[in-house]
Amino acid sequence: MVETLEIDGSMGEGGGQVLRTAVALSAILRRPIRVFNIRARRSNPGLRPQHFAAVNAVARLTGARVEGLQVGSREIVFTPGGAEVTEGMLDVGTAGSVPLVLQALMPVLAFSSRGASLVLKGGTNNPRAPPIDYVKEVFARVLAEMGYHVDIVVEKRGFYPRGGGIVRFRSKPVEVLKPFNLTGFPGLRSVRILVYSARLPRHVADRIARSASLEIVRRLRVEPSVEVEFMTGGESNAPLDPGCGIMILGTLENNVVFASSSLGERGKPSERVGLEAASEFIKQVETGAPVDRNLADQLVVYAALAKGVSKLRTSEITLHTLTTIRLVELFLPVRFQVEGDAGAPGGYAVEGVGFKRPAA
Ligand code: ATP
Repeated sequence: MVETLEIDGSMGEGGGQVLRTAVALSAILRRPIRVFNIRARRSNPGLRPQHFAAVNAVARLTGARVEGLQVGSREIVFTPGGAEVTEGMLDVGTAGSVPLVLQALMPVLAFSSRGASLVLKGGTNNPRAPPIDYVKEVFARVLAEMGYHVDIVVEKRGFYPRGGGIVRFRSKPVEVLKPFNLTGFPGLRSVRILVYSARLPRHVADRIARSASLEIVRRLRVEPSVEVEFMTGGESNAPLDPGCGIMILGTLENNVVFASSSLGERGKPSERVGLEAASEFIKQVETGAPVDRNLADQLVVYAALAKGVSKLRTSEITLHTLTTIRLVELFLPVRFQVEGDAGAPGGYAVEGVGFKRPAA
């Protein structure tokens, strides 16, 4: 019997990501865990519906047993099971973030014995979560370089408060993940601006796109391409609620992609939505680091599991990244070399364990 790993959910950043990463690694490594103090320092501590959905999804697909799995719970015991369900529908409920559920599921599905085909319902573009566009255009691209291929189709967007977005997810598992080297910044090849807007006046999308585009031209002297997805609300795949946002994608000469994004909110001027994303994007380019702050934390688990040395340079070492590293080091015999302080540009390198799916 493997010993249960005790995890203090309030460690470091102490948010939902500690829980999602812990559950994913528990399922992959078949190591039982007890997570206590879940989101203890948040104003609404314990499992929120979105965290419940992520843990529940991993448990359902892997046949794990979970004690304490209810909204509000501050402690869970997750005992991995031997099942492997790779098809079906997962309803995150309301506008809970589909990308955050995927964040917990994707590492697990990377090592399943067959491909997955899932339909996920919920929010696709939520505050403080990866936009689904980001998972598709940035995250999935790096994973493909590591040998893990996922395909994401957004059939319908889901915004706060009702969600109702529909995402089709397919994946092909890997034998072993290849390491990445994301350290070079050879210069920008292109900049792509994606704006989406639904159930809002047309000028909203245009103002977001225009403000971002003008700022990029003014500061970086690069002409971005602009794509606008505009829905009045009458379309068959229109989201239930109004919503809008922007993602700016940069492609470097070596094909590495990074992004910044921003979400519209009631009362927030459209120009601010565009400028927020543009400023973050420009800061990234000026730092000369190829990996954005979000990708840096999202790749920690994959780097630790890959075979060989992975390294990256990022525009910001976040508390999320440092916390995920600490957590991963509890599970695996890896040691990350981190350069730079929290909040500043930096990077990390690690020799991964070369994890392979255990024989059935
Ligand atoms: P809590 O509510 O406890 O703060 P949470 O479960 O909502 O936590 P976090 O633990 O803060 O979420 O994790 C958020 C995740 O979303 C991180 O992996 C972060 O990199 C990612 N993320 C947030 N904003 C973006 C963005 N704009 N683009 C890409 N990824 C993002």
